[in-house]
Amino acid sequence: MSPAPASGPTTLISGPDTIALSGWGNYPTASTELLAPPTPAGIQVCLVERSGVIARGAGRAYGDAAVGTQFTVSSLGLHRMRSFDAVSSRLTVEAGVTVADILADFVPRGLFLKVVPGTKFVTIGGAIAADVHGKNHHRDGGFGNVVDSFRLALSGGGIVTCSRSENEELFAATLGGMGLTGMILEATIQLRPIETAWLRQETYTAPNLDAAIDQLENGSSATYSVAWIDCLARGASLGRSLIYFAEHATRQDRNTLGPELEMFEAARHSRLSVPKLFPAWLLNRASMRAFNELYYQRGAAREGKSRLVHWDPYFFPLDAIANWNRIYGRRGFVQYQCVIPLDRARRVLAEILDRVSRRGDASFLAVLKQLGVGSGLISFPLRGYTLTMDFPITNTILAFLDDLDKLVMDAGGRLYLAKDSRQSRATFESGYPGLGALRDVRQQIGATTRLVSHLSARLGI
Ligand SMILES: Cc1cc2nc3c(=O)[nH]c(=O)nc-3n(C[C@H](O)[C@H](O)[C@H](O)COP(=O)(O)OP(=O)(O)OC[C@H]3O[C@@H](n4cnc5c(N)ncnc54)[C@H](O)[C@@H]3O)c2cc1C
Repeated sequence: MSPAPASGPTTLISGPDTIALSGWGNYPTASTELLAPPTPAGIQVCLVERSGVIARGAGRAYGDAAVGTQFTVSSLGLHRMRSFDAVSSRLTVEAGVTVADILADFVPRGLFLKVVPGTKFVTIGGAIAADVHGKNHHRDGGFGNVVDSFRLALSGGGIVTCSRSENEELFAATLGGMGLTGMILEATIQLRPIETAWLRQETYTAPNLDAAIDQLENGSSATYSVAWIDCLARGASLGRSLIYFAEHATRQDRNTLGPELEMFEAARHSRLSVPKLFPAWLLNRASMRAFNELYYQRGAAREGKSRLVHWDPYFFPLDAIANWNRIYGRRGFVQYQCVIPLDRARRVLAEILDRVSRRGDASFLAVLKQLGVGSGLISFPLRGYTLTMDFPITNTILAFLDDLDKLVMDAGGRLYLAKDSRQSRATFESGYPGLGALRDVRQQIGATTRLVSHLSARLGI
């Protein structure tokens, strides 16, 4: 198994036990006591004896979801793969095993995970707790759909098995429940067969947002689809995009498009890394405009052509640059991810993009995806379009995002908790009708005051 990812814990040590910890966005930072028990029994002890505790996986949630108000319990000590049933392709792993670990072991055997997020450096516990989505959510649903069952350590002391037929309510509350029902110790998940390590990708251009949504809609039979949006384009070009559709390549695809390639070529590991003192001013309007233009033109040159892309750069392009989150400098950044219901998506996303392009400081990493319905009580997805953008922390950004929240709220949309570090309770409550049911479950299992992250305290979950 490959080692656990060097990760997330951004540590500004303030004492022997208490550290300052943040998520991937390096904003906000809060002090907490970080505990790292190596066994399930150790985790149980941490939960039973303490209040203000939350689980932490690889720390890839952007905001304050994986920082406990008093204690943060790392799952990275739980890194063993338990069993694999070759007939059903079911794999049982401890919660701290990462997507990277699983793909490194199983791609050479012709198996893949049916749902993966945009980084492979997430743990299985974190993937379940955020019910993460991939580029195929509109077709295959979220990570919850890949999970058969899991074992959950409760704050009151017991361990329960949850599935769609056993402790169903707790199962639904834990999918997307952001660690607020207990700590997942291990899970059984379903893998899917693949014929090669490659994806057959086609790229298209869309001159504006309407055209991008038309293309995504017309191509919704593709397994994977995503649009990269140029957030600096304005006027008639507002929302101009590159649209990517992809399928797992068959042997025949590889024979036709890349006979020189190995069927199951290993992933290449990049050594690129952003230094700690990366000057944030390098990321300015002019440099981003130049990058966007180059990127768009490179995509346009490939328009309509099929090409093979290795699974690693296809699904996880940002993983090639270690610590890329440092490009935003010491103050950190927020990732703003909203979803807007289908019938209002065009109008509201155009308004959001217009405001963002006028402001001019969203990153080049803006992504538009289709989503289907979510599986958990407070899973993020709903049928519609999700837009994701990064913004460096500045003196004015939080007020600007509060205004975007109003557009999202009025449209019946919501913000993704795994990316959140700043939304208000009112925004959260208006977006998540399953909140009452989650609160009931938390009360029944005695988790309300025991399992508390900075996110749950801020949002009153
Ligand atoms: C570059 C990048 C790209 C991303 N792309 C996507 C994407 O495409 N789609 C998407 O959905 N998300 C995406 N994410 C977000 C990421 O997938 C989620 O935040 C995921 O939850 C991170 O997993 P983790 O192991 O790092 O968990 P952490 O960040 O450590 O924790 C996240 C949440 O899970 C809980 N948790 C962690 N482990 C356990 C456990 N064992 N038991 C119970 N609760 C637990 C924590 O309490 C916390 O609430 C991306 C993140 C990055 C950095």
